[in-house]
Amino acid sequence: MFNEGTCERCGTCLSQCPFLQLPIEKAKEEISRMIETKTSAEIIRNCAGCSYCNTICPTQSNPAELRKEIKLRKNRKEGVGSLLLISEEAPLNLMSIGLELETGEKMENLKKYTNPPKNKSMFYIGCSLSYIYTDLVKTKLLESLPLVGGMKYCCGGYVHSLFGEEEAKIKGEKLLEEFNELGVEKLISFCPGCDLMIRGVYPKIIEEYNIESQSIIEYLVEKYHKGELEFTNKIGQRITFHDPCPWRGLNRKIYESPRELLEIMGAEVVEMKHIREKSLCCGAPVSFRNRELAERIANKRASEAEEAGADAIAFICTGCVFALSKNAVEKNIEAYYITELAQMAVGEQPPHRIVEVTNRAIELLGKRISQNLGLIKDKYLIKSGKIYRL
Ligand code: SF4
Ligand code: SF4
Repeated sequence: MFNEGTCERCGTCLSQCPFLQLPIEKAKEEISRMIETKTSAEIIRNCAGCSYCNTICPTQSNPAELRKEIKLRKNRKEGVGSLLLISEEAPLNLMSIGLELETGEKMENLKKYTNPPKNKSMFYIGCSLSYIYTDLVKTKLLESLPLVGGMKYCCGGYVHSLFGEEEAKIKGEKLLEEFNELGVEKLISFCPGCDLMIRGVYPKIIEEYNIESQSIIEYLVEKYHKGELEFTNKIGQRITFHDPCPWRGLNRKIYESPRELLEIMGAEVVEMKHIREKSLCCGAPVSFRNRELAERIANKRASEAEEAGADAIAFICTGCVFALSKNAVEKNIEAYYITELAQMAVGEQPPHRIVEVTNRAIELLGKRISQNLGLIKDKYLIKSGKIYRL
C-alpha cells in the first residue's frame, strides 16, 4: 500500500525514476497531483511498473503502489490491447504469435507441458519458454522432473499487473486447483514473474495456497551443495548478472543465488552500478508504448555492463532478454540466459540462439501488428475471470 501519511511530497521518486526523470519541481507537483487526483499522464505514458522508486523513497512510502493504483484505474476503465492478455481465451497475444516462430516439435512439446504427469515437484517453465525461447528447456539438467507450462498454466502475472488483486485471486485459485489435481507441492520456476506470483502474491491473497516455490537458480545451487551436480567445465569469463524487477517483491536472500551459482561455475562475477533490489529495469514494459524510451533504458543498462568490464551478461527473465540482449551484444558483451551457462558448465553445448530468436520475434511482432492494428487498438477487460472486448 502507498502510505500517503508518511509521503513528504519531496519528488525524489519521480525525479530519480530512470524512465520519467522529471525535474525536481515538476516531480513535486506531479506526486501531489497523483495523490490528490489519482491520475497522472506521466505515469500512464512512461512508467514501467519496475518499483525502483520504492527502493529510493526516503520515507519508505511505497510510491510504486500509487502508480499501480493509477494504472489499474485506467486499465479497468479503458481496457488493454490483446497482445498483453496471455490467455487461451484472448485473441492473438504475445505468446500465440511467438508460436508462429517455429511449429512442429514446438507444438508437440507444448502438448507435453500442458499435460504433465502427476508429480510432487515440477519445473515450471512459464509461457515464454513454452512459446518463444523454447531451446532453453532442452537440457539434461531438466530430465529429472516433469515440465509444466503453456498459457493453461500461466502464473497470472499479467492479470495481476493489468487488473489487480481481485482478478489475480480468481486466476490463482484456478491455478491452485489445477496444481492440486496434478499433486504438485513444489514448483521450480524459470521466470521471476512466476516467482513473484507463486511465492510473493498468491500466499498473501489466497488463504489455502500451499505450493512451495524455488527459482531454478536456487535449485541448481542446492543440487551442487548436495553433491548431486558437478560443474566440470569452468566458465572462465567475467560475468555480470542483471537482477530482474519482480524479485524486488521477494526475500532479499534471492539476490545471492545467481552470484553464488556463477562463482561455483567458475565465472568471475563483476557488478554493475545498480544491483540487487536497486537494479535498473531492462525497459521491456514500455517496449510497445514508447520504443525510443525502451531503447534508451536498455542502452543505459548495457553501458553499465560495459563499465563493469563484463565479458557477458546473464539473465533469468525472458522479458529482459527480449529488451536488453541485443543492446549488450552491440557492445560486444555476450548475452546468456543463466541456465545456458549452467548447461555449458556441465559440458553441454546449448544452441545459444536467444539473440537470434529475439530478433525474429521482434520482426514477426512488427509484421503481425502492421497487418492487424486491432492488436493494439482494440481494448479488452478482464472481469470476474472473463475477457470482454470493449
Ligand atoms: S513517495 Fe517517497 S520519494 Fe516520492 S514524494 Fe513521497 S516521500 Fe518523496
Ligand atoms: S515504478 Fe519504476 S518506472 Fe514507475 S515511477 Fe516507479 S521507478 Fe519509475
